[in-house]
Amino acid sequence: MNKVYLRRKITPRVENGHPWIFSNEVEKIEGEVVGGEIAEVFSHDKKFIGKGYINPKSQILVRLLTRSKSEEINEAFFLTQLRKCYCRLVFGEADSLPQLIIDKFNDYFVIQTLALGIDVWKPAIVKAINEIFDPKGIYERNDVPVRELEGLPQQKGFLSAPFDTQIIINENGLKFYVDVENGQKTGYFLDQQDNRKAIQHIVKGADVLGAFTYTGTFEIHAAHYGAKSVLGLDISANAVAQANKNAELNEVHDRCKFEVANAFDVLKQWGKDGRQYDVVMLDPPAFTKSRETIQKAITGYKEINLRGMKLVKPGGFLVTSSCTNLVQPDLFLQIINMAAKDARRKIRQVVFQTQSSDHPIILGMENTHYLKFLIVQVQ
Ligand code: SAH
Repeated sequence: MNKVYLRRKITPRVENGHPWIFSNEVEKIEGEVVGGEIAEVFSHDKKFIGKGYINPKSQILVRLLTRSKSEEINEAFFLTQLRKCYCRLVFGEADSLPQLIIDKFNDYFVIQTLALGIDVWKPAIVKAINEIFDPKGIYERNDVPVRELEGLPQQKGFLSAPFDTQIIINENGLKFYVDVENGQKTGYFLDQQDNRKAIQHIVKGADVLGAFTYTGTFEIHAAHYGAKSVLGLDISANAVAQANKNAELNEVHDRCKFEVANAFDVLKQWGKDGRQYDVVMLDPPAFTKSRETIQKAITGYKEINLRGMKLVKPGGFLVTSSCTNLVQPDLFLQIINMAAKDARRKIRQVVFQTQSSDHPIILGMENTHYLKFLIVQVQ
């Protein structure tokens, strides 16, 4: 087993719970490094810190799996770890299983193994799911570009007997189709579940516009909570088709419609046309994953929120999300404030929260606190 010794400056962060070790944070490594194997990590003064998987091809050399010297990383380890998780089912680093995502939709499981060292344990993970849950089906959604940074191919497919990949889930008393084969990510964004519920007090009798709607979840919640009219926009024709199906499934299609549109263009144009809504909701995809392009993300958020705000009637509400983990909550609030200044509108914060509670946050680990969900009243 490789022994990895940390630089003195790095030791406290990792000792205090952070599971990542970058290649430039290492003082020395004993033994020949083989990607995907388990390595032991020590402090600069040779105290044992933990064990994790190693990959010399990745910028993140080691990701820790355990802090116990006696705990073996084997099939049984994954069974024990999966038993400790709950709900979603696994949220990577926050569940001490770095780069593993498991979403549970009824009795179906969708998994992503986004690093080499966790990918080698895929059979053990599947075995553990089978043992704990007696699932109806398991699907792999590893068609994610980030895998290439780890030297892994992009792939997707069944890890169980084939099943109908259009699943209907229940959320907050509503029904939604989840396409686990062709949907985005694992098919559905479970992390916004509590936030979708948070709009119920502001949409009664309202004319609502939602952009970046995906399969229409926020918009269908709005219609269900009493909105007068709802229009949802997405650039993906597939997403819009699925959203319209979801509206029918929940019998709100008379007042809840979806259209294909580029939100950046359309919101700008409608602002010029003087269109007004009681509530405008925005949930764009992550604008950057790297620090180098953070400025681009800030500009993007400011722009789209400025355009959204201009469409809100005085006294109405802007509902806005950001899932870019590099834009931390304080920065996001600053951006929204800048947008309000530029739009010459006064805002007051009504709700400010994060992802659903089954995606826990590890203090000191910024990327586990990635979702910002804000409702402001716009004067
Ligand atoms: N609100 C959704 C998740 C949105 S994900 C939910 O709760 O499930 C972001 C969505 O933005 C994706 O569906 C993507 O297709 C869409 N999108 C990306 N760029 C866009 C653009 N310029 N205009 C409109 N939609 C866009």
